[in-house]
Amino acid sequence: MLNTLRKIIQAVSSAEDLQSALKLVVHQVRRAMRTDVCSIYLHFPQTDNFVLMATEGLNQSSIGQACLHSGKGLVGLVGIKAETINLKRAADHPNFHYVQETGEEAFSSFLGVPIIHHRKVLGILVVQQREERQFGTEEEAMLITLSAQLAGFIAHAEATGGGLRQDTLADEASLDVMYEGVSGSGGVAIGHVAVIAPPADLDKVPDRRCRNPEDDVEAFQAALEAVRRKIKVVSRTLARNLKNQEQELFEVYMRMLDDNALAGEVIQNIRQGQWAQGALRGVVQEHINAFEAMDDPYLRERASDIRDLGRRILAELQQTNTEVRSFEESTVLVAEEVTAAMLAEVPADKLKAIISTLGSNNSHAAILARSMGIPTVMGAVDFPYRRMEGQEVVIDGYVGRIYRNPSQDLRRQYEQAIAEEASFTKELEILRNVPAQTRDRHTIPLLVNTSLPLDVDRSIAQGAEGVGLYRTEVPFMIKEHFPSEDEQTDCYRTQLQGFSPRPVTMRTLDIGGDKNLSYFPINEDNPFLGWRGIRVTLDHPEIFLVQIRAMLKASEGLDNLRIMLPMITHINEIEESIRWIDQAFIELCEEGYKLVKPPVGVMIEVPAAVYQARHIAQRVDFVSVGSNDLTQYILAVDRDNPAVADLYHTMHPAVLTALKQVVDAAKEEQIPVSICGELAGDPAGALLLMGMGYDNLSMNAASLPKVKSVIRNFNLSQAQEMLQHALEQTGAGGVQKVIQDHLKAAGLTRLHSRYVDN
Ligand code: PEP
Ligand code: MG
Repeated sequence: MLNTLRKIIQAVSSAEDLQSALKLVVHQVRRAMRTDVCSIYLHFPQTDNFVLMATEGLNQSSIGQACLHSGKGLVGLVGIKAETINLKRAADHPNFHYVQETGEEAFSSFLGVPIIHHRKVLGILVVQQREERQFGTEEEAMLITLSAQLAGFIAHAEATGGGLRQDTLADEASLDVMYEGVSGSGGVAIGHVAVIAPPADLDKVPDRRCRNPEDDVEAFQAALEAVRRKIKVVSRTLARNLKNQEQELFEVYMRMLDDNALAGEVIQNIRQGQWAQGALRGVVQEHINAFEAMDDPYLRERASDIRDLGRRILAELQQTNTEVRSFEESTVLVAEEVTAAMLAEVPADKLKAIISTLGSNNSHAAILARSMGIPTVMGAVDFPYRRMEGQEVVIDGYVGRIYRNPSQDLRRQYEQAIAEEASFTKELEILRNVPAQTRDRHTIPLLVNTSLPLDVDRSIAQGAEGVGLYRTEVPFMIKEHFPSEDEQTDCYRTQLQGFSPRPVTMRTLDIGGDKNLSYFPINEDNPFLGWRGIRVTLDHPEIFLVQIRAMLKASEGLDNLRIMLPMITHINEIEESIRWIDQAFIELCEEGYKLVKPPVGVMIEVPAAVYQARHIAQRVDFVSVGSNDLTQYILAVDRDNPAVADLYHTMHPAVLTALKQVVDAAKEEQIPVSICGELAGDPAGALLLMGMGYDNLSMNAASLPKVKSVIRNFNLSQAQEMLQHALEQTGAGGVQKVIQDHLKAAGLTRLHSRYVDN
């Protein structure tokens, strides 16, 4: 059964379009199960009908015609109950309804399975038999497995404009085709797509027209030659240690590189206008599909050889491609996973928006984008980015939407939104030099989260009162090796000097999770529960000490440094870290530096730290809550996974309760408590946190003026009352409603809160 299923799924995923995929499924299922009929009905939400879209065994003329309303007939019953129905004598069932045009009268038994994607019934997969036949549980199980996989395929096809339902039918010429993702950073923009692919990753190479095909053919042939040479060297070196079969593999590789095989096809595609990397991807993918569909396990395994070969050629091609890429005036950077290095590749004045097909609203790429104030959509899984190079798109970062082929109307609407946004930002500029003070005269300092040298001027221009979180990993991420002590010292000095005399809180290296260094990869099945933050640096004191020394040296004469430790889970991690900090401090003093000992604080990011907040507070000078991680750990929702983005609620009452407990613990121990997670930069979130008693809030610079504006239009007593009501709620929806009501009552309507619609 496994083999049959695998073959069907394989055939479906290499089908040209949804119609051919459905045809393939009905054909293969009918054959595999030896049934008289196999059909697929799709659900049309507008009419709430299930329409026959593919069949073998029923009248072909009824495709697109035969339909059953939800709840009507057996098909409609499967749809409304979202449950499998398996009948030996269908006609005896009270719901049986004879659909004349299909000619199904002749069939006795019926097995119908719903095709469900994200709780929605997209369609029904049905098999029928002329004679009475009780389908077995194995057969049921096979159809359920198949339809679960088919659901993802149908949903993807519809989302990317290849669906069959008229309401979503979209071709290349359709206007305003919409793709949904998750809001990464607010704001709207219009621009042209520039896809950036990570090195040597064949699957991520986009389609692109080549300017001069013969140049690309030449580059491809040079890459082939280089791979051939390397394979020969490797096979010669290994010859003595290899079994015959393994040696043969090298010969197979060499044959594949022959002009008459894979290479010939690539060259042909280049000559038709595709650039070398795109042509290589296409041909390699076709070969992989063909091998993966084979019955023989040995031959099936050869798919991975082809993939490997493809990767090697691609790496060579990328090395020889030294052309400096030019970008449009309004560029929308698109990648599967946007990295800091990619952001650095596009000139800042041209970068208007970002689309990441993976990741979610609290992935670090989104946080970086927010700090740069660039509209961003994350987790746009259905966005067909490989075919989008150079196309114009509209980005709505507030709601996480992308529109392809914008119509005049849509473009006008968004141009107006861009203009309004700019004027609102201008209006808020007058707040730059006034304090964040409530109407009832409570003042709360607003600090910024930074990561790049660029952030200094931008933050001061927004009236930042210091840095609550400097993410030191970002300068590490854009390098090709660990930065030296001197490089780090220069980098930290820029921050400390730029903000002096305001305080700068530097977090020690927080890698792992979704933050990887290309030169120090951490590959784990569960990276957010793995080796990250302080766990890595305590295991590598040589890296930790260099960083601490650089921070301390950079602070000489400025004395505005504060050091903060990420991901603290065990009390002994604090003690160990402080020992290293003391060691570095003593060494530098002995070397003659005139230093003032910086305050040392801890981030509260894991539930254990919430429960032990008082013990932590007794050992440090301050605490700061990392609500992004704390939310993911309290709610057990990966902050980086768009599939569960709907479950990630920083305003969940459980999270709010934890945030309040931390404040109370810090107050008991009389140390300052701040928050530097994204919640602090949300206008509604900031009010709640102020109500809890946080001493200061740290956020990305772009959010600061809006947060200041709401604080100045609210009372502390109102914020405390709003918090009280919020904590009485049982879910995030209730909290949002409470906030909405309070803000409305205070006349605050232009909020742009990520958490509250208004
Ligand atoms: C947090 O977890 O809330 C935080 C501020 O740290 P980061 O987002 O960098 O993990
Ligand atoms: Mg964190």
